[in-house]
Amino acid sequence: MQSGAPSGALGADPTVLIGTIVNPAGLILAKTVPQVRVPAFASPGLGASPTWHAFAADQVGIAFTDAIGVVGDQRIRVDLEAMHMLDATLAWAPGEFFDQAGVPVPQCARGTLRRVVDGLGRTGLRALVGHELEFMLTGPEGQQLPSHLWAQYGVAGVLEHEAFIREVLAECHAAGIGVDQLHPEYGRSQFELSIEPRDPIAAADQLVLTRLVLGRVARRHGLRISFSPKPFADGVGCGAHQHISLMAGDVPIFTGGPGPTGLTTEGEYAIAGLVDAMVDLQGVLSGSVVSGLRMLPGQWAGAFACWGVENREAAVRLVRAGPANPRGANVEVKAIDPSANVYFATAAILGAAALGIAQELPLPPETTVDPGTLTDAQLAEADIRPLSAEQSAVVDTMDGSAVLRAILGDPAVDALVAVRRYEVTHFPDHTADTLTNRFRLAWSV
Ligand code: GLU
Ligand code: MG
Repeated sequence: MQSGAPSGALGADPTVLIGTIVNPAGLILAKTVPQVRVPAFASPGLGASPTWHAFAADQVGIAFTDAIGVVGDQRIRVDLEAMHMLDATLAWAPGEFFDQAGVPVPQCARGTLRRVVDGLGRTGLRALVGHELEFMLTGPEGQQLPSHLWAQYGVAGVLEHEAFIREVLAECHAAGIGVDQLHPEYGRSQFELSIEPRDPIAAADQLVLTRLVLGRVARRHGLRISFSPKPFADGVGCGAHQHISLMAGDVPIFTGGPGPTGLTTEGEYAIAGLVDAMVDLQGVLSGSVVSGLRMLPGQWAGAFACWGVENREAAVRLVRAGPANPRGANVEVKAIDPSANVYFATAAILGAAALGIAQELPLPPETTVDPGTLTDAQLAEADIRPLSAEQSAVVDTMDGSAVLRAILGDPAVDALVAVRRYEVTHFPDHTADTLTNRFRLAWSV
């Protein structure tokens, strides 16, 4: 994929700076400073308890672990090179955790992604990531909006929310976010915003900033935005698919090769690595207690660990290069939802692809049909594993995954397991209705 040039706000003069971090539960947490404190926020950083890594998505709990307790203090440092202006005087910058000696904290998602990207670079590979973000507009308390005028992808949705759409597009542009498109989705009051590819850290930063823009504009219209994987029990799920392209030097590895559908040998290994690790990755990509309500066949959520060209039911959809695809060949990982921590999700995906290459994993056969139409015997014969909709099992798999631990490191996986296990143990017997109600605005900003 070709990257758009990031347009930042260097040299800008914010009155207020919002610095955010995304924690293992996928929550966006913030501190703000007045202008005079901006340099201190960048270095040595602002103090924060290690419990920030353990704040749970139910908006009240803390998932303490042996490593994360009430003792200790860390520093959040904002990356001023990644600062962007939300308006003339309000700036935003992504933050990263360090200890008081300036050493990166291993539970920090942005720092983890940086380590994975650096590791990829040492093997001569470079990645670009393009995000899709699905969300649902709700009333201020998360109520379903009246949507008598709505069709799947219908223009009625554009006209119903024209002012909102105009402002989102204008403010994204002003903030330096490269929006590819914003369109009504399948579900009532559901939209999708796709963002142009950038290097993995800038792309994840851009997604966080987009969520802030959406939250600010929605408020002005008396609305809120649900980033729940399943906002309403009887409605459509929300995904947060990531499009990944990989280059060896400057040469794309998902096209121009001798393999099936033009894959290079490295491209085959990378896709094999992703498919092979997908079950282990699920806890990071779609591990919240609500995620299982979306991770079902027939939802275009990629509920099967397999790959296929333009196959919307495969967890890994290969998008081919060609004149109709100026961004170039890429793989779309569909099994991600917006409750995931975007930095950890990208890190897990890139790490799995890199492991596939390092281990020269053979590419399984392409899945050319909807895997949801196959019998259990046919799935087993094709070695296609369905992803689980049972979140306690997903968390256990994440906990026991050597692959994930090798990619993200034990402290990060332990923190992810803690927050997700907290969710499944505190909300064990909930119906789809009570779960979706309880968590509808959990990941909102
Ligand atoms: N809403 C679907 C999901 O949960 C995705 C629909 C699409 O492919 O755009 O992932
Ligand atoms: Mg979509």
